[in-house]
Amino acid sequence: MSNSVSGCSSRITGLRCRTCGKLYPVQANNFCTEDFGPLEVAYDYEVIGKQLTKNELKNRPWNMWRYRELLPVEGEPTVGLHAGGTPLVRAKRLGAALGVKQLYVKNDAVNFPTLSFKDRVVSVALSKAKELGFTTVGCASTGNLANSVAANAAAAGLESYILVPSDLEKAKLLNTVVYGANLIRVHGTYDQVNRLCTQIAFKYGWGLVNINLRPFYAEGSKTMGYEIAEELGWNLPKHVVAPMAGGSLIGKINKAFNELTQLGWVTETPTRFYGAQASGCSPISTAVKQGWESHKPVKKPNTIAKSLAIGDPADGYFANKLIKSSGGWAEDVTDEEIVEGMLLLSQTEGIFAETAGGVTVAVTKKLIEQGKLPADEPIVVCITGNGLKTQDSVEKVLEQVPAIEPNMVEFDKIVTGPKEVVQLTHERVLV
Ligand SMILES: *Cc1c(COP(=O)(O)O)cnc(C)c1O
Ligand SMILES: [Zn+2]
Repeated sequence: MSNSVSGCSSRITGLRCRTCGKLYPVQANNFCTEDFGPLEVAYDYEVIGKQLTKNELKNRPWNMWRYRELLPVEGEPTVGLHAGGTPLVRAKRLGAALGVKQLYVKNDAVNFPTLSFKDRVVSVALSKAKELGFTTVGCASTGNLANSVAANAAAAGLESYILVPSDLEKAKLLNTVVYGANLIRVHGTYDQVNRLCTQIAFKYGWGLVNINLRPFYAEGSKTMGYEIAEELGWNLPKHVVAPMAGGSLIGKINKAFNELTQLGWVTETPTRFYGAQASGCSPISTAVKQGWESHKPVKKPNTIAKSLAIGDPADGYFANKLIKSSGGWAEDVTDEEIVEGMLLLSQTEGIFAETAGGVTVAVTKKLIEQGKLPADEPIVVCITGNGLKTQDSVEKVLEQVPAIEPNMVEFDKIVTGPKEVVQLTHERVLV
């Protein structure tokens, strides 16, 4: 307990500045007053190792809270009790299409309750918000976070204020308002929305999950890493491909792997991290490819992968550093490649992912073609959101659907006649 600060349990040391290392008490605060560095939850792993064993996990339900000792919540969680526990799919057909022997898809498109990996981060953030006494919560969002905060706040009896860029997909807006959230569209980019939310949190004293509750929020992403390791029989994968918006998820999967190694639950395995972005908003992948030490903000993001469209990513610096130091790489793909990636995943694995998933699959394909991802080693691809929320991007496939009169002659013509199929390049061809 010698290195902890007051107001913390013994397993949580405090909030530590990622820049200077200064330790702060556990409270709603996301930056260091000395250097404005981001704060991160710090733990005492010796204490955690005594409280939680791999054996104890066998008795716990298959959701993200089975790892609760590794999360910054005191006592029992109160919000988002069913998040996580998503499948790691052995993707044989996608693997064959890409020429990869051992390919896995971590499918967070089926997270509960709002079908994206954001249900993990929100479960932690809102459980913490309740613990800290907040009754009004909210967020700045590119869509999925909005959905998850709205649903989980409703179920927890919390009031919510959610701010988004005004040009979001209809489904992302709808899936926020139905839960009774106060949704506000802002004429501006995500970065402008985020700045506004920082002022709101300060003025109104609310718990905004990715602003003043960000250190707790971000920890929820670690559970994706724990699950991948456990689903691989407590082994760490050699390669992980993850989409990047704010650049937090990719770093937290790495943190999870480091923690499992420190606890002695897995043997130390160097994992290479690969970041995926859309070319219309690629501050982090550009920094990696150019060899820059930090990213240059993108002023006007322009991509169908709206959930990843953060021009000035909060964790961009750390994501860039991790990718390089791990020996991985980053790439970005065009809107057309994103659509191809979505259709490739759905037509090989039966998984309909949103545009961000198309980004991740298309980047994986590109990195394999470049020889940056070795096709003969195990690769885990992280799918983070559901295609039902970004249907506009693949609407074109509807053009191949025939309509017939109710008789066999017309049906026979379809079975025996030339077939119109929408190819992955989404051009129609006759076969
Ligand atoms: C938020 C989000 C991400 C990336 O999250 P960061 O941690 O901000 O990098 C990836 N995919 C989807 C679908 C998201 O909504
Ligand atoms: Zn600091």
